[in-house]
Amino acid sequence: MPIGTQSIEFLNQLEIAELELLNWGLVDGFFDERELETKADEFLVTIQSRGEAPVCTDGWQLLETLLDARLLWRIPGTRRYRTRMAEAVRLFSRLRQIFPDRNWQAWRSSPNLVADYRLQVRPRLYPLREVDSQTLIERLKSAVPIAALQEDVFRALIGSGAGQKRLLRQFQCRAAERILRATREGRASGTIVSAGTGSGKTLAFYLPCFAVMAPHVSKEHWTKCIALYPRSELLKDQMREALANTKSLAPVLAAAGKRKLVVAALYSDVPYNTQAVVTNEAWPPLNVRGLRAHECPLVRCPSCNGKLAWLVKDIESETERLVCSECAVTIESDEIRLTRVRLLREPPDVLFTSTEMLNQRLSASRFSPLFGIGLRAERRPLFVLIDEVHAYEGTHGAHVAFLLRRWRRAADATCHFVGLSATLADAPRFFSDLLGIGAGDVSEIAPDPEELAPEGAEYLLALRGDPASGTSLLSTSIQSLMLLRRILERDYRTDLGNRVFSFTDNLDVVICLVSSSIATVIRQRYHGPRSHCCAPTRASFPLKK
Ligand SMILES: [Zn+2]
Repeated sequence: MPIGTQSIEFLNQLEIAELELLNWGLVDGFFDERELETKADEFLVTIQSRGEAPVCTDGWQLLETLLDARLLWRIPGTRRYRTRMAEAVRLFSRLRQIFPDRNWQAWRSSPNLVADYRLQVRPRLYPLREVDSQTLIERLKSAVPIAALQEDVFRALIGSGAGQKRLLRQFQCRAAERILRATREGRASGTIVSAGTGSGKTLAFYLPCFAVMAPHVSKEHWTKCIALYPRSELLKDQMREALANTKSLAPVLAAAGKRKLVVAALYSDVPYNTQAVVTNEAWPPLNVRGLRAHECPLVRCPSCNGKLAWLVKDIESETERLVCSECAVTIESDEIRLTRVRLLREPPDVLFTSTEMLNQRLSASRFSPLFGIGLRAERRPLFVLIDEVHAYEGTHGAHVAFLLRRWRRAADATCHFVGLSATLADAPRFFSDLLGIGAGDVSEIAPDPEELAPEGAEYLLALRGDPASGTSLLSTSIQSLMLLRRILERDYRTDLGNRVFSFTDNLDVVICLVSSSIATVIRQRYHGPRSHCCAPTRASFPLKK
């Protein structure tokens, strides 16, 4: 039986009961089977007394639902149970450092990696989903003129949410209205969308962005949106989402006699030409259903999150086409750019790149048209998306602020800047300082407190490394991230958590770059290449060549 709201409500009750001990640092607590069954039966009685129909016939069935989803866990060889949350806290607090060349049996005598922890569990507040596509279109029409093609774009994007009709949040509608209106003004302006992780900031941008771009799609290729990311890992994740969106827009554009929207990435893993793929270490060889191929490091399958591969026969015929190694999805050459040569010849509609790459290539005359420099006014970018705006503070933020000013001057750009940020005090001022445009031209869009509703739980766990044991904080970070990855779901289609992102201290950017590659190597050794990449936090070990 799938996990539903009743099972989640019961799980919340179990976790609250476990917190009493966990908050005291006692991680070995458990429920015995009888106690758990009684709790489940009592929960079902409460459900009935509220006038709701229980989804399970008895308490044990409810427990089995949680056990099947591995949200409840039986301690091997016993009739004792813990929730996944409590078991995770226990594992985190017991992390130890073992080297493979030592005796693996030495686990108990190996040094501790975690000295102490603090745990906070609270309901997660999400903006309510309450607006359907028709309501959105009517609201937008009353504010700005909308073409029929743009209406179809909204319907296609909103209708494409994970197999069922997607409802929008109020702040996403306000963002769409603001962005559509601002792009008609013909001068540089900004919108900063501030909302919690996972609450739909990205869609708040791409909905109006695709709607504005759609009428401009023609046989001519030029960059309409530059999406800037502080890290390539985030870039890959967002590019996958964008590919899913452009795929769902393809029929709408075809019906209007237009080509598909094209996305592309530009960063170190993008090969110069097709010949460079074969020797590029970032594109390792892969066998796809008996065919020789190279694994694409730029993006994963928009449908199943599996590896995408460039078949050797396609590389040889210079066809920039990707096939999924796990499902039947293909990314055709009219949907993506894979080499720099083609990227420059036929720029994508949406270019995913990093601030570092923009800085490196801004002055290169070959690359400048890709960024809208030296082009006539109607071929310059319409949007610049800046994700993780809060990452641009301090010295690094000052460099990026100068970079954006240089780009604006060079491209003579009057585009609309959209920033996405999770937490930022006085976001409009911060964003206007970063862009170098007046604070009056920047608006903030965020969910109102009354639009937020509790949904599931959020877990804040702070781990303290153990300096007395002689281990480094880097080891604690790496082991914690590896553990976290294993605790989460393998299947990305579930709502129960499946991705790990790691953010590091701004001061240690250089060390983190080195240590993140170390982390990747270690992780691949233990878990194979399926694991997601994450960078560990501050390192305090001597770096050797
Ligand atoms: Zn796939």
